[in-house]
Amino acid sequence: MINVDILVIGSGIGALSVTGELCKAHRKVTVITKGLKKACNSSLAQGGISVALSDDDSAELHYKDTMAAGCNLNDSDAVMKLVETAPSVIREFINDGMVFDKDENGNLSFGREAAHSLNRIIHAGGDKTGLRVVEQLIRILTTDCEVIQNEMALELIVKNGKCCGVVTLDHNGKRNIYHANYIVLATGGIGQLYPSTSNDSTITGDGLAMAYRAGARLKNLEFIQFHPTMLTVNGQAYGLVSEAVRGAGGILKTQDGTPIMEGVHPMKDLAPRDVVAREVYAHVVKGEKIYLDISSIKDFRKKFPTVTEICEEHGVNPDDGKLPVAPGAHFHMGGVEATPEGLTSVDGLFAVGEVSCTGVHGANRLASNSLLEGIVFGKLLADYILTHPRKSEEFTESELPEGSPLKKALPSKEEIRSKMMEFLGIVRSSHRIDEIIAWFEQYMPSSKGFTSLDKNANAQEYELYNMLTAGYLIAKAAKARKESIGAHYITE
Ligand SMILES: Cc1cc2nc3c(=O)[nH]c(=O)nc-3n(C[C@H](O)[C@H](O)[C@H](O)COP(=O)(O)OP(=O)(O)OC[C@H]3O[C@@H](n4cnc5c(N)ncnc54)[C@H](O)[C@@H]3O)c2cc1C
Repeated sequence: MINVDILVIGSGIGALSVTGELCKAHRKVTVITKGLKKACNSSLAQGGISVALSDDDSAELHYKDTMAAGCNLNDSDAVMKLVETAPSVIREFINDGMVFDKDENGNLSFGREAAHSLNRIIHAGGDKTGLRVVEQLIRILTTDCEVIQNEMALELIVKNGKCCGVVTLDHNGKRNIYHANYIVLATGGIGQLYPSTSNDSTITGDGLAMAYRAGARLKNLEFIQFHPTMLTVNGQAYGLVSEAVRGAGGILKTQDGTPIMEGVHPMKDLAPRDVVAREVYAHVVKGEKIYLDISSIKDFRKKFPTVTEICEEHGVNPDDGKLPVAPGAHFHMGGVEATPEGLTSVDGLFAVGEVSCTGVHGANRLASNSLLEGIVFGKLLADYILTHPRKSEEFTESELPEGSPLKKALPSKEEIRSKMMEFLGIVRSSHRIDEIIAWFEQYMPSSKGFTSLDKNANAQEYELYNMLTAGYLIAKAAKARKESIGAHYITE
C-alpha cells in the first residue's frame, strides 16, 4: 500500500492547475497519468482561452454567450462563478510567466470563435495554445509534486461511502494500491468512444466509468459536442482544423465548389458547432466529400502552424486551398456531477476539467470555455483542499472487493466506436436507443450492472470495459432526454 496525501489522476489542464496551486503552498501531490505527461487533450487545444479581459468585454457578456450556447440548460451560478473569477486567474497565470500572443501595440490579442458576441479568445503560439499552457503549468511544478507516467487508474476504493484510495496498474503491469486523503479525478472526456475524434488516444471514458462504479452521481451524459472539421483523408480523421480557420474566412464547400452553409443558418460557416456538424454530416453520409476552402486566407501557414503540420503529415498541401474535412467527437459536456470547487457526491472524491459536469456548459459548450474551466475551477479546488483538512478512512488490502470476472470476450474498440456513431452520434433515433442499450448489457458481468472487474483484468480489458460502461451510461441518458436540445439531436 502506498500512502499519499493528495492523489491526482490525469495530467491535463485540470490536473496540472490543481497541482500547481497546491505546490505553491508546499503541499505534497502525487500525479499518476496513463501515458506520457503531455499526452492529453489539453496539449492539443488550438483555439485558445475565452476570458473577458478586453476593454469592451465584461463578465456579464461572457455569461450571456455561455448561457445562450448551452441552451440555458447551464447551472447559472457555476457559469457566473467561472466568468467572474476568470480574469483574475488568467492575470495571475500571466504573472506566473505564461505568455499569450500580443497585437502590434503589445496588448493581448483577442480572437473570435463561433457564438461569442465579441473577440475574447486569447491564444499562444498562434494555434499552439494548449501545448504552451501545459508546458507552462509543468514548468511551475515544484519538487513537492511527483508525476508518475504510464500508470493507469483502474478503480476508486470506497469504504463506508467515502473515497479513500485508488487501484492502479503501472508500466510494468504491477497493481498498486494507493491510500490518499484527497482523490482528484482529472481524466478528461470520452472522445475515443467514437471512430472519428479530435481527442488524444488516452481519452477513453475511464474516469466516468470509475466514478460510476464508485457510486458518484453523473449528469448530462447525453451531451457530446462533435466538431465539424476534422482533417479527414480516406475516411480516417487525423486531427482538428480549428474553428478559427472558419473565423479567418474558411468556407465549407462540396466537391463542385457549392458552399454548404448558405441558407442553412444566418451565421453560415460560423453557426453553432452542432448546426455546422449536422450539415457536414448530412453530406458525408450521402457519400459526398466536403472541403474547407481556405484560398482566401493570407499567410495560412504562419497563422495556423499546427493545422499546417497535421495537413503535411497526412499528404494534404494547404497551398492547394482545399482541406478535406468531416465531423468528429470533440468534447463531453456531461460528466461526474461536481461543484465549481470539485466536490462530487462521494466524500473524498473530487472532479475537475472535462470529466466533471459542473453545469457550466449546459447542452453545448461555448468555444474555448473548457481550458478556462480547467484552470479556474482547478484553482478553486486547490483552495478548497488547502482550507479543508481531511483524513481518509483506513483500509487493508484484504478488505478490497473481489470484483467480477468478465462474462464474455469483449468487443474490439472499432466495434464499440462504430456502434457509438451509429446509435449515439450526431443524429440519434429514439426508437433505436433500446437496441444499443441491449447490446451493451450483454457485456455486464452480472445482473448488478457494470461492476468492478477482478484482479485478472489487464489494461486493455479495463479500457474496453470502461468504454462499454461509458457508452452504456450515455445511451441511458440519451434515452431519458426525449427532446432535441443543444448537442443532443434526436429523430423519431
Ligand atoms: C484537438 C482539440 C482542440 C481543442 N481546442 C480547445 C480550445 O481551443 N479551447 C478550449 O477551451 N478547449 C479546447 N478543447 C477542449 C479542451 O482541450 C479539453 O476540454 C480540456 O483540455 C480537458 O482538460 P482535462 O484536464 O479535463 O483533460 P485532458 O487534458 O484530456 O487530460 C486528461 C488526462 O487524464 C489522463 N487519463 C485518462 N484516463 C486515465 C486513467 N485511467 N488513469 C490515469 N490517467 C488517465 C489522460 O492521459 C490525460 O493526461 C480542445 C480539445 C481537443 C481535443
